[in-house]
Amino acid sequence: MDFTAELLEWHRAHRRRLPWKQTGDPYKIWLSEIILQQTRVEQGEPYYLRFTERFPTVQDLAAAPLDEVLRLWQGLGYYSRARHLHHTAQQIVAEHGGRFPRSHKILLKLKGIGPYTAAAIASFAFNEAVPAIDGNGYRILSRVFGMDEPVDTSNGKKLFAELAEELIPPAYPGDFNQALMDFGSLVCTPARPLCDECPLSSGCYAFAHKSVEKFPVKSKRTAVRARYFYYLFVRHKNSVFIRKRTEKDIWQGLYEFPLIETEERVPSGKLMAGEKWAALFGNVPLKVCRVSEEIKHQLTHQTLYATFYTIDVSKIPPALQTGYLNISPDLLDNYSLPRLVTIFLEK
Ligand code: SF4
Repeated sequence: MDFTAELLEWHRAHRRRLPWKQTGDPYKIWLSEIILQQTRVEQGEPYYLRFTERFPTVQDLAAAPLDEVLRLWQGLGYYSRARHLHHTAQQIVAEHGGRFPRSHKILLKLKGIGPYTAAAIASFAFNEAVPAIDGNGYRILSRVFGMDEPVDTSNGKKLFAELAEELIPPAYPGDFNQALMDFGSLVCTPARPLCDECPLSSGCYAFAHKSVEKFPVKSKRTAVRARYFYYLFVRHKNSVFIRKRTEKDIWQGLYEFPLIETEERVPSGKLMAGEKWAALFGNVPLKVCRVSEEIKHQLTHQTLYATFYTIDVSKIPPALQTGYLNISPDLLDNYSLPRLVTIFLEK
């Protein structure tokens, strides 16, 4: 079986026609790649359309305030991607005259652009023969060639890169990379791949050895950390309190309600009798109007368990007088909020 020829032939007949595939503009290719990291195509597409409409060029994105970029990003999660996007747009304007570097090597020096994204831009926009291997690529290559080296080790990555470099056709590097992505999304999927209709099955190691589910091999599972968030939706007259997250942590730059975070689940009585609660409210009279159900929110390496307390206060607690904005709830839409907070507001 000629892997490359079969894959390209399949791609010619079945390629997905998505808006970012109809362009050779490196800015739009980059935008789509960043949006689609950790995001399904169906979810990412409207964001891509909104971003390209609002910021048609890298100059437009660079000139926008970060808050506006974060607001447009709202709902996609992984906000560091949006911050890097904005930073890199400014870097391209300031250091490269608004033109994307044309080589994989130089693209790699830009913030938030890793080997995969750099290879995608270099091959799609500039036809550089450099393989872009994402989860789809690792899965297909490991299954077809029976590569049992773990894909999450530096040696594994090196071996896969060497194999892909042998396979990528110098005349069609962009098509080859696109084909890997599409084939991994439509045929050689993580669960229940369509082996019976797969054009590569005659030469596929995993199919022949009935071991498809064993590939790709991974060396370890990253531990998932549990965090317990108690959000305080504090109402004073017709206003609520929010603050910007500035810590080097999840959701940097986004806004949230006053928060008590704990290492373990804490019942209401204990939370309200605790030091953190006292530090926030002091002796201010308050009424807890409602305690939400716990909302579980999954991030890549963290599981958040959040409970929202709706609290009325008759005067502003001293601790909320500095560092917090006191705004009408109607204006919350004007701020970039984490998805977890918008889930609560929607309810
Ligand atoms: S035969 Fe199955 S496992 Fe092998 S490449 Fe095709 S879809 Fe993937």
